[in-house]
Amino acid sequence: MRTELVVIGAGPAGLCASIEAARSDVDVVLLDENQKAGGQLIKQIHRFFGSEEHLSGVRGITIGSMLLEEAEREGVKTLFNTAAWGLFPDKTVGILRPDGVDTIRAERVVLATGALENSLAFPGWTLPNIMGAGAAQTMVNVHRVLPGRKVMIIGSGNVGLIVAYQLLQAGAEVVAIVEALPHVTGYQVHASKIVRMGVPILCSHTILRAVGTEYVEKAEIVRLDAGVKPVSGTERWLEVDLICIAVGLRPMAELAWMAGLRFGYIPELGGHVPLHDKNLQSTVPGIYIAGDAGGIEEASTAMEEGTLSGAAVASSLGRVNRKISVARIADIQRRLVMLRQGPFGNYRYEAKQHITEAYHRCEQVGNGDRYDR
Ligand SMILES: Cc1cc2nc3c(=O)[nH]c(=O)nc-3n(C[C@H](O)[C@H](O)[C@H](O)COP(=O)(O)OP(=O)(O)OC[C@H]3O[C@@H](n4cnc5c(N)ncnc54)[C@H](O)[C@@H]3O)c2cc1C
Repeated sequence: MRTELVVIGAGPAGLCASIEAARSDVDVVLLDENQKAGGQLIKQIHRFFGSEEHLSGVRGITIGSMLLEEAEREGVKTLFNTAAWGLFPDKTVGILRPDGVDTIRAERVVLATGALENSLAFPGWTLPNIMGAGAAQTMVNVHRVLPGRKVMIIGSGNVGLIVAYQLLQAGAEVVAIVEALPHVTGYQVHASKIVRMGVPILCSHTILRAVGTEYVEKAEIVRLDAGVKPVSGTERWLEVDLICIAVGLRPMAELAWMAGLRFGYIPELGGHVPLHDKNLQSTVPGIYIAGDAGGIEEASTAMEEGTLSGAAVASSLGRVNRKISVARIADIQRRLVMLRQGPFGNYRYEAKQHITEAYHRCEQVGNGDRYDR
């Protein structure tokens, strides 16, 4: 199969990339290993926070279907149940479909594969019913299965807080949220709602071990001092049958490694991140990176980055009048800067700046600085 643009991943970033490119008459194939479009959004039953322009107040699941309808209206060809198993520097994409293995030759590729959950190892962590918070969320909101009734969550970021709330809504008891830092790391508005519902958020605490025979039955927790060392004598046991680990996400970037993209290590964006320029083009010409795959942020930035990559692809293929394209791209970049300089500080703006600076340094010197891997 041949096409002008392959977009890998049909989350908010991939959907917006496809819509923007197809609007400029680019032939787009959008593929996803899931059965349907939306990425993380298919399990977000809550109303989104953020700005109205980015559909705040609309449930994540609805945003996914709205974007898919728009993509189909613009003539995007969609392939679901289709995993990309390979990406090569000449922009050939290896795919696995229900009917077998195939390849797609593309002129451009947008990688919008999203994120992976980080894990945490402690004695007993391989017991059944200890899982990523995202896995618990998929079981509850997509498959309608409550994975446990007495839950402990490790990590007080937005994912931990939102999953705690959704498990409460589904009828579970959240016994505690434990957080190693001395403060909650997610938005206060989410934390306050959960505390009002009677859930203790234990800051400066961590898990020591989990025990059980067939699945987890108890967890031992401990208080941490200012140096993050366990305080002897503060150990206690909680009876739980589910532990959700919510200790951060990292970019899902295996295909980027495979295609030979260069990476930078930026902890604020989840760790190893493919370097890219301001238009999201990676260090392999013609391969672009959008959304969480290029650094962990939120759905609003994923949508804007998707749109930016789609506009940059259309421009690089000569589909848009240069003046119009420059203005369009500048407008999206301006919106991204505004999102990243929001009320919670501008660390994401600064981190993204590091990536583009490192991208240009690699281009100029070829190797050898902190961000170059
Ligand atoms: C619990 C939780 C709550 C959240 N709440 C909010 C919120 O209220 N507001 C907000 O703005 N953001 C929120 N977010 C964040 C938001 O969901 C993500 O930032 C956003 O979905 C990232 O979009 P994306 O398109 O980059 O990736 P994703 O949505 O992760 O989509 C990536 C897609 O790529 C596909 N894929 C990956 N690898 C392959 C492959 N090899 N082949 C084929 N397909 C592949 C995946 O199946 C997936 O569909 C939340 C996230 C979580 C986990």
